[in-house]
Amino acid sequence: MSQTRILARMNRADVERAFAVLELELEEFGYPIAILEIDEDLDIHELSVYVEEDVDTVRTIVERNFSDLQISAPLELEVLPDIDWVAKSLEGLKPVRAGRFLVHGAHDRDKRRIGDISIEIEAGLAFGTGHHGTTAGCLEMIERVVRREHPRNALDLGTGSAVLAIAIAKLAHIPILATDIDPIATRVASANAKLNGVSAYVETQTATGFSHPAFARRAPFDLIVANILAKPLMRLAPQMAKSVSAGGSIILSGILERQRDAVLSAYVGQSFRHVSTLHREGWVTLHLKR
Ligand code: SAH
Repeated sequence: MSQTRILARMNRADVERAFAVLELELEEFGYPIAILEIDEDLDIHELSVYVEEDVDTVRTIVERNFSDLQISAPLELEVLPDIDWVAKSLEGLKPVRAGRFLVHGAHDRDKRRIGDISIEIEAGLAFGTGHHGTTAGCLEMIERVVRREHPRNALDLGTGSAVLAIAIAKLAHIPILATDIDPIATRVASANAKLNGVSAYVETQTATGFSHPAFARRAPFDLIVANILAKPLMRLAPQMAKSVSAGGSIILSGILERQRDAVLSAYVGQSFRHVSTLHREGWVTLHLKR
C-alpha cells in the first residue's frame, strides 16, 4: 500500500505548537509525525505526518488544529512510492561483497576467498540476497558495530532471508532473535540459518513488530538491526527504545535519503543519538545508540 506524507512549512514557534497538539491527537491512530529543520536562518521548519489510509481524515484533523492554533501554512500531499520487495530480491543472483561478507548462492561457493565471511542464501520468496543497497549497507554497518562493541545478543527485526542474522552469527557467535511479519520469510530464514550452520544461534519467530513473547524473554538486546521501511521504523521507535540495552546500538535501513531526517527525529525523540550514516544507491543505513 502506498504511503502519503502530509506536510506544511512554517516557523519554529508554530511548528512546535502544531507538533505538540498533533502528536497527542494522532498518537492513538499510530501515525508517525516528524519535524524537520529546512532552513535555520530563514526560520523554515517542516511538519510531516505519514499516512497509509484515511488521508482525508488525517488531513481534516491537521487543518482543524492549524485553524485552532491560527497557523495559516498550506498543506501539501506527497505520495511516496511503493516498494516491491520480492521483485527486488530476485533482481540478480551474482555474489555480492559488503565489507568482509560475501553473500552468494550455492552455485557460487567457489567464489569464496580466504578471509571472507560467506553467507549462502537461496533466492526464494524472502527478501535479502545482499543485492539491495539496504542489505549491503546493514552488512557493512554490522561489521563495524560488532567489531567495536562486542554485543552479547542481537535482534534482527524483519529478517527476510535471515541474511543479517546469519552475518551476526558468523561474526559474533551470539544468540540472535530473527523475526518477520511474513511466515514464509520466517520459514526461509530458518532454512538459511541451518544451511549456514548457525541455527544454534538463530531463533526465528513470526511476529509483527515487537508483539511476541520471545521479545520479553530475550530483551534487552545489545544490538538491534531492522531493515524495514521508514514508516514502520518511525512507528517502532518507542519499542526500540524499550528493547535496546543501555549503551546498546541499533542499525536501521530501508530508508530513502529524503526520509532520513524524519526517521532520525523519531529516534532522537526517544533519546537515541546518531553515530553514523552509510549511503548506498539512494538508501541510507543509520547507526544510533542510546
Ligand atoms: N533483513 C533482510 C530483509 C529485509 S526486507 C535484509 O536486510 O535483506 C524487510 C522484511 O521485513 C520483509 O521480509 C518483511 O516481511 C519484514 N517486515 C516488514 N514489516 C515488518 C514488521 N512490522 N515486523 C516484522 N517484520 C516486518
